[in-house]
Amino acid sequence: MSKPKLSIWLANPRGFCAGVDRAIEIVERSLVKYGAPVYVRHEIVHNKHVLNDLRHKGAIFVKDLHEVPDGAPVIFSAHGVAKSVPVAAKARGLTHIDATCPLVTKVHKEAELRAKQGYITILIGHRGHPEVIGTMGQVDDGKIILIETVADVAGLPFQATDKLAYITQTTLSVDETADIIAALKQRFPMIAAPSKEDICYATTNRQVAVKDLAQRCDIVVVMGSVNSSNSNRLVEVAKAYGAKQAVLADTADELPWAEWVRQKQIATLGLTAGASAPDILVQQVIEKAKDFFDVTVTNQIGAPENVTFNLPRHLLVS
Ligand code: SF4
Repeated sequence: MSKPKLSIWLANPRGFCAGVDRAIEIVERSLVKYGAPVYVRHEIVHNKHVLNDLRHKGAIFVKDLHEVPDGAPVIFSAHGVAKSVPVAAKARGLTHIDATCPLVTKVHKEAELRAKQGYITILIGHRGHPEVIGTMGQVDDGKIILIETVADVAGLPFQATDKLAYITQTTLSVDETADIIAALKQRFPMIAAPSKEDICYATTNRQVAVKDLAQRCDIVVVMGSVNSSNSNRLVEVAKAYGAKQAVLADTADELPWAEWVRQKQIATLGLTAGASAPDILVQQVIEKAKDFFDVTVTNQIGAPENVTFNLPRHLLVS
């Protein structure tokens, strides 16, 4: 019996960003330089496949510094850490290596600068996300306040004349954040903006690409892990831009292929990956789809990306 036809549209750009590439390379080079095991405080990036691969090579992921044995090297994740963390590592004499994405560091520096200038900073982000915890930990308590939604703006305990600034998490929905910023500016017309957009190029470009896919495809599949902020935002953006279905998956095997064949409603599938998801996961979806469908693949024409970040100099020589 012939298979039903499926046209797969591959998002461009998709998958790994420069910050994730750099963070993974920092772990791999640290393993070479110091030998296994090396300890990593928190998930280096939020992707199960990446973590399992690095575990296999000798990385041990821990929640806190007290789990790191004396004398062992410890790496801080791409999401960044509060200022107190390297201080605590130093106090214990641990060798610490910082894999914070330079675009997260830029947001940290903004928070620090605004505090020095006497501003209260409003951080737009998701409560509990490691990046938000790290950014809030750049300044003293009371100098930064977190909001998550447009509704939160009304509850802020400030006057229009107060000295306020805003910054954002790097991996938010561009559209939702624009709404929150508009509400902030309406209530606090003097609020100071970041010198340059905080939502990073990778988050923005992947959302632009998925908006296009959502309008031309019956379903959008986002490869990424459930705790990956930018992957979850891609699912939400796809739904908001008209995808009948948008799903997040860690592996090709998680997808309901037989059900899609039975439904007879899927003729076009948009395929993308969050900034922490390797492209092998995308290729595995295409291969798996061929078991059920007669597949054609079209590459979306998207924004070229050529961003790279330098590695810490001490890891360039072994
Ligand atoms: Fe850096 Fe953006 Fe990648 Fe996060 S998603 S690691 S901020 S480039």
